[in-house]
Amino acid sequence: MRSFVAGIVTETNTFSPIPTGTSEWERVDRPEDIVPDSSLDGFRRKAAAAGDEAVFGLYAFAMPAGPTVRAAYEGLRDELLGQLRAAMPVDAVFLPLHGAMVADGVDAASIVDDAEGDLIEKVRAIVGPAVTIGVHIDLHCHLTPRMLDHCDALVIYKEYPHTDMAARAEDLYDLIRDAHLGRTAPVMGWFDCRFMGIVPTNPEPMRSFVDAMMAAEGAEGLLSLSLGHGFPWGDVPDSGARMLAVVDAKQVPGDARAHAARVAEAWGRRFFALRHEVVVKPLPLDAALDRALAAPRGPVVVADQADNAGGGAPSDSTFVLRRLLERGVPDTALAMMWDPIVVHLAKSAGVGARLAVRLGGKMGPTSGDPLDLDVTVAGTRDDLVQMWPQVDGSLASPAGDCVHLRVHGLAGAPRQGGDVDVIVTTRRGQVLGVEVFTAFGIDLSAKRVVVVKSIQHFYAAFAPVAAEVIYMAAPGAVAPLMETIPLERADLHKFPWVEDPFAQG
Ligand SMILES: [Zn+2]
Repeated sequence: MRSFVAGIVTETNTFSPIPTGTSEWERVDRPEDIVPDSSLDGFRRKAAAAGDEAVFGLYAFAMPAGPTVRAAYEGLRDELLGQLRAAMPVDAVFLPLHGAMVADGVDAASIVDDAEGDLIEKVRAIVGPAVTIGVHIDLHCHLTPRMLDHCDALVIYKEYPHTDMAARAEDLYDLIRDAHLGRTAPVMGWFDCRFMGIVPTNPEPMRSFVDAMMAAEGAEGLLSLSLGHGFPWGDVPDSGARMLAVVDAKQVPGDARAHAARVAEAWGRRFFALRHEVVVKPLPLDAALDRALAAPRGPVVVADQADNAGGGAPSDSTFVLRRLLERGVPDTALAMMWDPIVVHLAKSAGVGARLAVRLGGKMGPTSGDPLDLDVTVAGTRDDLVQMWPQVDGSLASPAGDCVHLRVHGLAGAPRQGGDVDVIVTTRRGQVLGVEVFTAFGIDLSAKRVVVVKSIQHFYAAFAPVAAEVIYMAAPGAVAPLMETIPLERADLHKFPWVEDPFAQG
């Protein structure tokens, strides 16, 4: 099988103050630059093992932020489509995408809510109906009919934190290869679960639900089962959780599409029945700190979910650091504040320098006010890399040039409780690995409270070293309480706005 593999990947927070412009994109242009244990690596490994030829085109990634500007999206899309035309003839196309990308001004329309649907449709127009198209997306997606209409099979990550990106790419490879060889005839059906929320897959009962999905695959003509959780901060009509079933028309009786829809509905309703048990219930800022301080021992890892760069937030909000300083919380560390100017000043002054800096709070009201701080530069590291644990290996993720500031207190207000260790970076990104602290010699086991700016992806690395994990709902650009998101275009006839939307028919 000869395949073409390429993707354009970002998650659009339509409330983010940061535009996704042309310079926000990072690229993998050559197979030798593919990061081990990434989605692309899953396709590469499978093709190599099967002795297949895979042509790798453009793979572009932008840190989640606001809508992608027209020039960026159309430029990348048309480059990818040009590479596909040059690679023809191919038997299959693999598209590793995100599934929640909103682009501005595409094709003279004012906004395209479903950039992936636009891309997949244009890929189909080039390759025609005989080529098998497989799409691989994040579970924080808006699963749309347009995406499904123009591909043969779609597979979504199952784990949150996303520890299974390469594993699910491998699943999709097998699915598409079997279809290309005529062994199967995949047909898809989906179901709107009428649910919106943040659903980690590590705790029960979600853990057992995901395990049951995986156990069901491969039996009774069911090729693949995916749950798109939805991305609550993308204000589009197709938002929310949707269940997808891919069945084999050669194995199921009667109308395969209707059968797939019935399977999706059965699983979707099973998920919906768990709605009260699977959602995260984050604590308000001070309540989260109270609980952390009441713990018998540290380190208590507190997730500042609302300032998660991975969901489009700036990662420069000051609400939590201000309260840590005002309350005199002892033995505390926090990562990562995005403030390239402060990194520049601290590096220039050098390790050991004592400075007055104005930190964070620069990107808008959701970041809070900047903090004027009395700090000592305790360490600097260029091109810091964090290791994000995966089911099979770990994914190296760049964290930028970082400095370790020992914060003595707010300027002019000597602090009780000792210094706070704060990591500041040039690169906006969320905490994925413990290296953001340990690279500076910070001993997490000696801390009472460790604050990470991340919703959930920190979990795989930090849960093993944490005495307790607390999810916190501070103010911010990805405020984690669904009812506080200022949605206008999303269909809110779903939980938690409606307790049981199915009961109302
Ligand atoms: Zn995600």
